[in-house]
Amino acid sequence: MSVVTRIAPSPTGDPHVGTAYIGLFNYVFAKQQGGKFILRIEDTDRERYQAASEARILQMMHWLGLEPDESPIKGGPHGPYRQSERQELYQRHAQALLDSGHLYLAFETPAELEAIREELRRRGHTPGYDGRARTLARAVADRRAAAGEPFVLRLKIPRQGDIIFHDRLRGEIRIPESEVFDAIMIKSDGYPTYHFANVVDDYLMGVTQVIRAEEWISSTPLHVALYDAFGWPRPEFIHLPLLRNPDKSKISKRKLDTSIDSYREQGILPEALLNFLANMGWSMPDGREFFSLSEMIRHFSFERISLGGPVFDLKKLRFFNAKYLRDLLPLEQVAERAKPFLAAAGCHWDDEDYLLDVIDVLRPRVETLSDFVQHAYFFREEFPYDAEARKKLASGQKYLEDLERELSRLDFFDHDAIEEALRDYVQSQAVKMGEVMMPLRAALSGTLTTPSVTDLCVILGKHRVLTRIGRALTELQSALPDDNPRPDEARPPLVAPVSPPKLGGTKGGCR
Ligand code: GLU
Repeated sequence: MSVVTRIAPSPTGDPHVGTAYIGLFNYVFAKQQGGKFILRIEDTDRERYQAASEARILQMMHWLGLEPDESPIKGGPHGPYRQSERQELYQRHAQALLDSGHLYLAFETPAELEAIREELRRRGHTPGYDGRARTLARAVADRRAAAGEPFVLRLKIPRQGDIIFHDRLRGEIRIPESEVFDAIMIKSDGYPTYHFANVVDDYLMGVTQVIRAEEWISSTPLHVALYDAFGWPRPEFIHLPLLRNPDKSKISKRKLDTSIDSYREQGILPEALLNFLANMGWSMPDGREFFSLSEMIRHFSFERISLGGPVFDLKKLRFFNAKYLRDLLPLEQVAERAKPFLAAAGCHWDDEDYLLDVIDVLRPRVETLSDFVQHAYFFREEFPYDAEARKKLASGQKYLEDLERELSRLDFFDHDAIEEALRDYVQSQAVKMGEVMMPLRAALSGTLTTPSVTDLCVILGKHRVLTRIGRALTELQSALPDDNPRPDEARPPLVAPVSPPKLGGTKGGCR
């Protein structure tokens, strides 16, 4: 039988990292087995439904490169792929189970249900439903329903002992009969519950492996009872370990940023995210941490999943991302990915080679694509000086004046010539390297966190280097106290003790 896996997200909010995680394992296993991977939207919970969420989930899967073979937009032989459009199928299947005696009508009001739960609690049982409507004669129930009394359809769980099912990762799972109650399959509004729609769809869509998070283990007894009631073969169940917050609780957006859209906006790469997620609970046979999706597909096996709760560590995700930016992606790719971030910040470049040079020196220094924007001084002349840079400028005026002269003398403005000129100058002054380099760095970039000064000089070129030193010196001059300033000409000092004024543009961007 050919393998069919699926994810079945509910469109209730931001595309969640848990969906990406489960999606990855479903995708990888299906591809490895030459099978199909389905994306089905479980939108029967109309109260929590958010219209934009479905499109964002589909976009997320596309961005990650986990393209489903069948989905609401792609279509396929088992559609529709939105549960809200499959109502007729659920009704037909509910009717069949009602006729075979596996479902029954129940009329308890919310107040009665609460009293039942209270009674069960008092007797030390799991609060649920005590099955009292099982004994209601069908003819009576039908009459009450025909008279307009609201009712639900409940599943008659066979009372034959513990519910047992097999999980590929955990072996036999046995749930005591007393913990599984006759749950609602069709609500009083006629809509199916998650359990009913999920099982009917998995069967009709030919799903062979249900790969989902371990939080669904407690629902599986109901699911296997449904498969048995229909007389359908059960799929294989594989419950993956749940991603955890650093405090080991179930991953939650209250404690952690769990939104894939937010990662994307920060400039996390899909390759890095997938690679990071793959390492959550699974490991490569040779222990390698960095690998591509196709390598994972080649080497994947459920045997290498470990059940300890993997901690989702955003710092580690950034570390993975930095590794992709620095080493694993070709330079041209990094530049392509950085472009929209730079463009959105108003940065312009005329020459692709210039952009490649900039990205090349910056990529060992960034963790995300949005970090490139902090180096906007490569793309504009009117950059601001931050507070630390101002201090260095003020203390380095003499060096800047000298260097303006020294550098202007160079005929060849290449790496070796610049390095030699700077080294000679520092030696001639008998000061520490940093005392000269920091003011120069500040003049060239407005900050102190940049690539090497030589790299800055080479990339910017002689003309811009000299212009920038000149600009810094002018700013320094104009910041000197005037003996007799007119009020409208008075300028603040370059190094202000509190809240230094901005000397041009806004900080850290290209606008
Ligand atoms: N709709 C469920 C969810 O939101 C699907 C769970 C399952 O995979 O069975 O995750």
